[in-house]
Amino acid sequence: GLTTRLQNVFGKLRGKGKISEDDVNDAMREVRLALLEADVNFKVVKDFIGKVKEKALGKEVTESFTPGMVIIDIVNKELTELMGGTQSKLNKNNRPPTVIMMAGLQGAGKTTTTGKLAKMLQKQGNRPLLIAGDIYRPAAIKQLQVLGEQLNVPVFSLGDQVSPVEIARQGLQEAKDKGHDYVIIDTAGRLHIDEQLMEELKQIHTETKPDEVLLVVDAMTGQDAVNVAASFNEQLSLTGVVLTKLDGDTRGGAALSVKAVTGCPIKFISLGEKLDALEPFHPERMASRILGMGDMLSLIEKAQSGIDEKKAKEMERKMRNAEFTFDDFLEQMEQVKQLGPLDQIMDMIPGMNKMKQKSDLKVDDKQVGRIEAIVHSMTSAEKQSPDIINYSRRKRIATGSGTSLAEVNRLIKQFDEMKKMMKQLSGMMDPKGGKNKAM
Ligand code: GDP
Ligand code: MG
Repeated sequence: GLTTRLQNVFGKLRGKGKISEDDVNDAMREVRLALLEADVNFKVVKDFIGKVKEKALGKEVTESFTPGMVIIDIVNKELTELMGGTQSKLNKNNRPPTVIMMAGLQGAGKTTTTGKLAKMLQKQGNRPLLIAGDIYRPAAIKQLQVLGEQLNVPVFSLGDQVSPVEIARQGLQEAKDKGHDYVIIDTAGRLHIDEQLMEELKQIHTETKPDEVLLVVDAMTGQDAVNVAASFNEQLSLTGVVLTKLDGDTRGGAALSVKAVTGCPIKFISLGEKLDALEPFHPERMASRILGMGDMLSLIEKAQSGIDEKKAKEMERKMRNAEFTFDDFLEQMEQVKQLGPLDQIMDMIPGMNKMKQKSDLKVDDKQVGRIEAIVHSMTSAEKQSPDIINYSRRKRIATGSGTSLAEVNRLIKQFDEMKKMMKQLSGMMDPKGGKNKAM
């Protein structure tokens, strides 16, 4: 996929101490192909490459000690910018109810997203009302009612014999009467964009004056999703896009092109059929995900609440100098443990994912207890320089910790791998100052 391809490109750059114009050109050719292959809009790719190239050939890069990383940083920033820069929040009306109107083709995920949004708003302490505005698709009303029941959120319906515009009008009135703070209008879709659909949506729009018009598009349809977004936007002036089915085998092109083509930000992404599979869209996180940097920002956010900043700084220094010992390993485990389920945390750290598969490293919390026991059974000399831990020392450690030789062996192997990874990570740090933002 896109991530693998980009990682290959950057893998070549990463080790380089000096970078020539040819290196940049080669890399940009590969990035261009990778983006096109991921079904990113042609014009978007062209502009993107132009911008990155201009910056990559600048002075800052050639004078850096780690030009490869600086280029990755540039690509990361431009990708983030391409997707809107910062997170776009839902509009809110100062005089409730805030009206959210859903739009999109049939099967894109409007009704499901309506339910998911309702759940999200409810969790934030709001009282949404859902309006069943799809009178055409058989069982569409029922589908919304079932979702409403699951969530304990009321659904306003007038059956399928009243016009959607009238349903929307009366639904909104009901929300005002009953003091709901949010209204979400589910609407009908078609297989293709047609006049009649647009006319109806425009009427609902005129009638309810929504604060938010969310277009729901299926990420799996790639370029088509973007074209659909562009046509809807011409007629309906959208305020945001919801990209669904990102859990499927998508090539990523839609996420990268929507904002550039329509000017309309992606506000949410959906990653599954379940009601809690909706997430606010963070351009910077998506960019690092695409670049295979792991979801470092989510991790950092989590870490900020759980990790002692001074200790983190010290750890960073050690990583930079590759001075990592078993004591640090243990301490880091302790800190990471406070962040949440370890498996989830590991997934967010670059490289960890692969390492987990490679060494079938299992990190449940019980395991951590055993790891701690092993490390505690080491002498301080062993903790400082694990290289001295030979066979007989390993056996002693296993006995001392009440574990097995195999477990001790495995831990030492994991430690070595981790150390290697730390080296890699430290190579990604910009030596001129602070952490490289590409991480
Ligand atoms: P609508 O016609 O636009 O209202 O689409 P629906 O909400 O009825 O969704 C169509 C189908 O797509 C349903 O089977 C949903 O469960 C499924 N669906 C919606 N969003 C997602 C998603 O993010 N991931 C996956 N895998 N399926 C989704
Ligand atoms: Mg529907």
